[in-house]
Amino acid sequence: MPVRRWVKSGGAKLSPDPDELVASAPDPTTARVNVVWHKWSDLRLLDHEPLYRAHQRSEPVLHLHLVELPLLSGLSRVAGIPRCSSRRAEFWQQCVEDLACRLKEKGQHLVVAAVEDPAEFFARLCEEVPVRSVFCHEDFCDEELQVQASVRRTLQRVGASLECFWGALTVHHIDDLGFDARDRHQMPMYKGEFQRAAKRRPIREVLPIPALQKPPVAALTLGSATVAEAFATAPPRLPPEERQLFQWTGGETFALQHLKNYMESGSLVRYRGATESFAHGEDNAVNAGTRLSPWLAFGCISARMVVKEAKAWERVNGQSSSTAKGVGKTGSTGTRLHTELLFRDFLRFSTLAWGTSLFKIGGPFHIKGVQWKRDQELFKKWCLGQTGFPFVDAGMRELAATGYISHLHRQCCAAFLVRDLGLDWRMGAEHFESCLLDHTPDANWGNWAYRILQRPGLVETRAKYPLEEHVNTVEVVVWPAVHDAQLEHTLLWVPELQHLPKDLAREPWRTEGHPSKRIKIKPYKDSPLWFCAANRTNWDYEYFWLPGHAWIVSEGKPEHRYKDFQLERDYFRPLIPALNVELDLDALPVKHSWGDTPGESRPHLWEGGQRQRRRAKVKATKVEEKAKVSFAANEGVDEDDAPQFSERSGIENCHRK
Ligand SMILES: Cc1cc2nc3c(=O)[nH]c(=O)nc-3n(C[C@H](O)[C@H](O)[C@H](O)COP(=O)(O)OP(=O)(O)OC[C@H]3O[C@@H](n4cnc5c(N)ncnc54)[C@H](O)[C@@H]3O)c2cc1C
Repeated sequence: MPVRRWVKSGGAKLSPDPDELVASAPDPTTARVNVVWHKWSDLRLLDHEPLYRAHQRSEPVLHLHLVELPLLSGLSRVAGIPRCSSRRAEFWQQCVEDLACRLKEKGQHLVVAAVEDPAEFFARLCEEVPVRSVFCHEDFCDEELQVQASVRRTLQRVGASLECFWGALTVHHIDDLGFDARDRHQMPMYKGEFQRAAKRRPIREVLPIPALQKPPVAALTLGSATVAEAFATAPPRLPPEERQLFQWTGGETFALQHLKNYMESGSLVRYRGATESFAHGEDNAVNAGTRLSPWLAFGCISARMVVKEAKAWERVNGQSSSTAKGVGKTGSTGTRLHTELLFRDFLRFSTLAWGTSLFKIGGPFHIKGVQWKRDQELFKKWCLGQTGFPFVDAGMRELAATGYISHLHRQCCAAFLVRDLGLDWRMGAEHFESCLLDHTPDANWGNWAYRILQRPGLVETRAKYPLEEHVNTVEVVVWPAVHDAQLEHTLLWVPELQHLPKDLAREPWRTEGHPSKRIKIKPYKDSPLWFCAANRTNWDYEYFWLPGHAWIVSEGKPEHRYKDFQLERDYFRPLIPALNVELDLDALPVKHSWGDTPGESRPHLWEGGQRQRRRAKVKATKVEEKAKVSFAANEGVDEDDAPQFSERSGIENCHRK
């Protein structure tokens, strides 16, 4: 620790006035000190139980944030890539600067130090300051638990203690669940089951910011001179990204302001959860979420406060139903937000129960028999958005440039890496970890393991059949048609396709490919294709526009009419053979115009197009009627209530057909 001074931030002098401190502080030579250790995941003052408890004691309190260098500038274990991108480091730094300012306003101070090993820092701290107790939030992930244990041992050696609190790490306190979440046998395996159990349990009150004790005078010489100095080893800053949909600034001040604006503007009325990928219309999963995740990840705001605020707003303003087309859940939009945050709770508690298995290649469900690759070239192409699948490439480029992509884009890009590229899934999770502003180990690794990885039943059954010679994640081809029909988003990030007719920009391989084999792709439960949508309880409501066939596209000669565009020269050739999915675009449940290729020559209907379309129209009416019944019956049922892939996998049916 080279420099030993108090923190300044943004040019503002944050150092305390020594006279004032000496006058108000207890005798520095005898008084023992309590420390509030702010981890990177709890950079706030409000609803912070360790802080609240520390300031209820009568001793001076030292606030501390340790910038752990392995997390800021270290390399990941599997892929060997930087663990923290420039965007994420910048957001983290902003959170710390804001915390330092907020403490200063309240007559307190934040010591910030860049450290390799927190335990070593605490050993040195105890030499300089008579520490009684260190107050912090409980950890729940393997690596952090090891750090916590090592700090505890260090403190015990000098007669100090580590006091850990669960506090508001989750909406529902771990002690209020009615079962032991740490026990793998008691923790529900599926999120729907957990959500139902949790919703019956109470939510504790939000803790206010207490009257703060003074900081100890003896700590005046600790820490880096400025917050920026503690972040000196972060990757170089990037210029602002103009294409970014929403700009986040780190810190509790901005998080509280955002929540206030969100509630006051009545946005809750149109809330759609991030995971409601098939919500129709303007209020959809991409543009009607809260965008709170980066602040929640760095703990600038507590999840239980968000739920309490939503419920309070609804008590005053009334509830609006969250039920909409494509949304398989009932209740008010506030309840829906609670449900979405319970996904976060579920993964946080599951992480405790799963332990280190979450970070192993077989994941928490111990899958075996998958041949994972560690091909760095392939991995690089995925990271850079050079796969030749525009929807995936748009997502990956946006992720790298901004640190955020929508849930449906995360799913598509991640599933493509696992199912199509066959790369070690942990490389993908590490890239997401590095880039995502909202990365937390439980939510990121948990989503990869719980949602994206195949379950053992499917892997075992699949092993009996030859590998598919085409893209397996059909969503990669279909979702752009559903979610980005005008291609605004895709072309923003993949501008090299903007001169192609839109239908071809969506599927550029058609400029020189030809249909070689027609295959069945009808989604059904346990389908080896369709990593996600096929498991939705309401899929038959959605898929009347999907007759159920696709063509494998093989490489061919470039068509003369697209002579200005050449695959490989102007855009990437698909890394694996693409699919031409037969879609009835006119029956798709969103209001768009469908590209600028004339209807009769739209290449998505290579054979039997017109016939297919007429049949689909008739069928659509029938299916929609039927689906309304099944949709009503399924209301409130979650797609994850049942195992994603049962042991009796539908893949066998698929191969028999
Ligand atoms: C492969 C993959 C990796 C992901 N990694 C992360 C991550 O590191 N951090 C993260 O917060 N989310 C992660 N998500 C979940 C989800 O994409 C984001 O939480 C969501 O996009 C945030 O947008 P929002 O705040 O507008 O969400 P809202 O719809 O407003 O939801 C409110 C909050 O609920 C929580 N939440 C919602 N869905 C999930 C979920 N599936 N898992 C965990 N929490 C959820 C988030 O805290 C979110 O801010 C991941 C999803 C996938 C598929």
